[in-house]
Amino acid sequence: MTTAKQRTNSQPAVLLWFRRDLRLTDNPALDRAARTGRPVIPVFIFDDAGPSRRPAGGASRWWLHGSLHALGTALEALGSRLVLRRGAADAVLAQLVHETGARDIVWNRLYDPDAVRRDKGIKAFCVESGVAVRSFNAGLLFEPWTIRTGAGTPYRVFTPFWRRCLQEGFDAPSDGPPALPAPAVWPTSDELEDWRLRCSTPDWAAGLRAAWGPGEAGARKKLVAFLAAGLESYHADRDLPGVAGTSRLSPHLHFGEIGPRQIAAALGPLARGPGPDAFLRELGWREFSHHLLFHNPDMAGANLRSEFDRMPWRDDPHALRRWQRGLTGYPLVDAGMRELWTTGWMHNRVRMVTASFLTKHLLLDWRLGEDWFWDTLVDADWANNSVGWQWVAGCGADAAPYVRVFNPVAQSRRFDPEARYLRQWVPELGRLPNDLLHAPWEAPAAALETAGVRLGADYPHPMVDHAAARARALEAYRRHVNVPARI
Ligand code: FAD
Repeated sequence: MTTAKQRTNSQPAVLLWFRRDLRLTDNPALDRAARTGRPVIPVFIFDDAGPSRRPAGGASRWWLHGSLHALGTALEALGSRLVLRRGAADAVLAQLVHETGARDIVWNRLYDPDAVRRDKGIKAFCVESGVAVRSFNAGLLFEPWTIRTGAGTPYRVFTPFWRRCLQEGFDAPSDGPPALPAPAVWPTSDELEDWRLRCSTPDWAAGLRAAWGPGEAGARKKLVAFLAAGLESYHADRDLPGVAGTSRLSPHLHFGEIGPRQIAAALGPLARGPGPDAFLRELGWREFSHHLLFHNPDMAGANLRSEFDRMPWRDDPHALRRWQRGLTGYPLVDAGMRELWTTGWMHNRVRMVTASFLTKHLLLDWRLGEDWFWDTLVDADWANNSVGWQWVAGCGADAAPYVRVFNPVAQSRRFDPEARYLRQWVPELGRLPNDLLHAPWEAPAAALETAGVRLGADYPHPMVDHAAARARALEAYRRHVNVPARI
């Protein structure tokens, strides 16, 4: 019997360029490469060198290590390998074409501005060199140019965008191939460890290791667990940070360890209802964010609404630092920032509250927050992150009401009434009764003493007064952005 390992042939190879599609199932570029019957050389290029590339943040690099390790192992089970190379993708691909004699390159498309620019250049180079290129959609339900308003323009408002998507219906996912033909000679590969994607000095990733299992199998496990235990009550639980009520698929989706077609198909046979509908709608926000970024490629750095260019953001590195470290004195904000630092993830409700606190209470530029999230989130995603930040700051398309200032105490009381989330992440306040934990500065001295809390020593006083900060934010918006100071 011929095993997958022995099945090599000497026809010109196909280069299969993995990017953020780090899976074997529902991977159209992989399917295409396998169907050619020719030897396939899977390659991943760590391309964060060029001046135009936005380097991956620390948490993303940590994830990438695990994901590449898992993909390499899965490819070996197909009789193949993952070739690792580092450098500018165009130069590395040209070198690989030269080394292997490959006549075809296949990949799945990306939609952020760096990737679009780079990939266009690579396609042009391939055409000139007589190398055939085919690219596919693995990452979205609908590619950004396929959904248009009646007037033929891109959407800027979510609800009609999503309605239109639902009318289109979703494509079915594909299964992966059972084997991949190997080349007679493999090109050399870097060692994953040598890329030093995981930081060891200091090793800050213990919390990430405890929380996550990067890779396609980990993604599938998360989906199955969520469908069994979370989907039905998703609409009710998704806003409660103290409850594991969401799927936590975001980093897996970002790295393409699972695709949205696979998730939508897994929902298919389940009864429609408020849980599945709400969950699908969040996948819709992911689609919408990619749609917005594709049509507004400056979004990560520039206000979508240019009148916000006049906002007099404050320059206060000390305040920024307190926010980053979870020492603002507002327990919900601090819980979120500490969850982020420890696990590389933060609950969506709390992302909104912490982002609002930075931009409204502290009047610090949303780009500083976007940068911090970019570095610390395992799911840091150019589209979702910049759209999320612009939405909260009020300068995005379809943004939150411009001057909506989330009240961190009211949010805390409403969405974490039993203070489970607060107790997990702000344990120094854990012995306070629930009602006082949300705003410890309002607690009577005796209650603080009983709980062993000395404000200003064990836990900070609030760094700003909510009412005063809110009034300052509204005034700034009214004067500089010309938006009414009425909510
Ligand atoms: P679930 O609730 O289970 O949702 C399923 C999937 O839908 C998610 O995995 C995600 O891919 C998508 N999704 C859910 N909510 C949103 C949303 N509001 N916008 C876009 N897609 C969504 N999400 C990221 O993936 N990367 C980011 O860098 C990111 N930055 C954000 C920054 C801010 C300021 C805000 C307010 C939101 C941000 N989000 C980001 C969106 C959202 O918070 C996360 O996608 C969600 O918390 C991930 O958890 P989950 O997988 O359990 O989500």
